[in-house]
Amino acid sequence: MPKTPDIKTLHIKTFGCQMNEYDSERMAEALEGLGYALVEEAADADLVILNTCHIREKAAEKVYSELGRMRLNKERRKREGRDTLIAVAGCVAQAEGAEIMARAPAVDIVVGPQSYHRLADLVTEATTTGHGLVATEFSAEDKFAHLPQRPQGKRQVSAFVTVQEGCDKFCTFCVVPYTRGAEFSRPVSEIVAEVERLAGRGAREITLLGQNVNAYHGVGPDGRTWTLARLLRRLAQIPQIDRLRFTTSHPLDMDDELIALFGDEKKLMPYLHLPFQAGSDRILKAMNRRHTIAEYEAVIARVRAARPDIALSTDIIVGFPGETDEDFAATLALAARARFAQAFTFKYSARLGTPAASREQQVPEQVKRERLYALQSLIEDQRRAFDRAMVGRRLDVLFEGRGRKPGQIAGRSPYLQAVHVEGLEGLIGQIAAVDILAASPNSLTGVIKSGFEWHEPVQAAV
Ligand code: SAM
Ligand code: SF4
Repeated sequence: MPKTPDIKTLHIKTFGCQMNEYDSERMAEALEGLGYALVEEAADADLVILNTCHIREKAAEKVYSELGRMRLNKERRKREGRDTLIAVAGCVAQAEGAEIMARAPAVDIVVGPQSYHRLADLVTEATTTGHGLVATEFSAEDKFAHLPQRPQGKRQVSAFVTVQEGCDKFCTFCVVPYTRGAEFSRPVSEIVAEVERLAGRGAREITLLGQNVNAYHGVGPDGRTWTLARLLRRLAQIPQIDRLRFTTSHPLDMDDELIALFGDEKKLMPYLHLPFQAGSDRILKAMNRRHTIAEYEAVIARVRAARPDIALSTDIIVGFPGETDEDFAATLALAARARFAQAFTFKYSARLGTPAASREQQVPEQVKRERLYALQSLIEDQRRAFDRAMVGRRLDVLFEGRGRKPGQIAGRSPYLQAVHVEGLEGLIGQIAAVDILAASPNSLTGVIKSGFEWHEPVQAAV
């Protein structure tokens, strides 16, 4: 009889973007073979992984305060006769490498995003030797191909799949090209196999992820380079998958084929996240965004022509070095014209090693704060107006789990809004038409259209 590995406990704390969420799941799967099972509390875990974000200073600093708490936990467990391994993964690991161990000696492993396929070996080595290990090289191997896929993984109605990583665009404020490396697209066959596996476990919606997802250019089964639009059309052929989304896109890579797909492909949801960052051409140039405001607006006009009801979302930075009151007024004006359904707004944060960090004319913190506040109130008004416009409409909702209150279930509209209804848990994993009755600050509520019949979800052969 083969020996079953001892059960050990693992806790992963994830900071930052959805790509980190995806990576955390892959790391948990990679460690399953060593007998690690996930637990909710870091205090109970034999191995704690912090999957970190380096995009803004605040995000990176949070890691060190968390490591302070981890050290105390490790000491307490030691007194109780239990060992704890601490690993730092993600973009802070990549950017700071061995420096992390110098600042936080309780850390045993530092592993960058391109080395996750080595994680199980690193954990084994750290456990047996007690040595600190750092793995931050940009390997030429396809880490995705080397990460195991848990055959019996947890059921997810809506799942993320990373299809592209890294970035060659070098916006002057951004650390991604340094922490995630050059742009890399996964081969089509690998992505299709992963989506089919997820569909077999009950996924109905897939969100394709990439730092620049619409720059996707993976090798297709025909040996040619496939675009994101072609990949989406292929994934739309998988019968159990009803909804497709993708994020994050760059305005430069919104080609005609992808825009047309919003009109042609019913499974592609009417939601597009398209960052514009700043509303003046002068600041866009200083950011090295390589497009103008007129070009950005032309892209969204074409997207709206293809899919008039589309919900647009964006990222905006305030207080980039040299941003004047006029530049900021232009940002507000663009945000108002574009009628975003949602937006993520950030104060510019200087990141060491990026060109903008060493620019003179850094904007004072107080000015950044005031601009952020003004922008956020405009965006919030727009978001609420977009949600209120749904009241009285019937929307298809994909139910993903229980709601906040007993007897409620929760799901997402095609426009990615959270929707709550009174309903049976048997509906989780299904799409039902919902009559929207009200819009509260963070979600919509409604009733399932009368006459809706519950049926068993289609099961895929795996
Ligand atoms: N690739 C996407 C694009 O080109 O728009 C963005 C990816 S980035 C991981 C997510 C967002 O973080 C950016 O769109 C930007 O708004 C924000 N961001 C990146 N660096 C930042 C910085 N130094 N300070 C403030 N916000 C930043
Ligand atoms: Fe960063 Fe996006 Fe610019 Fe790439 S395109 S450098 S990920 S902001």
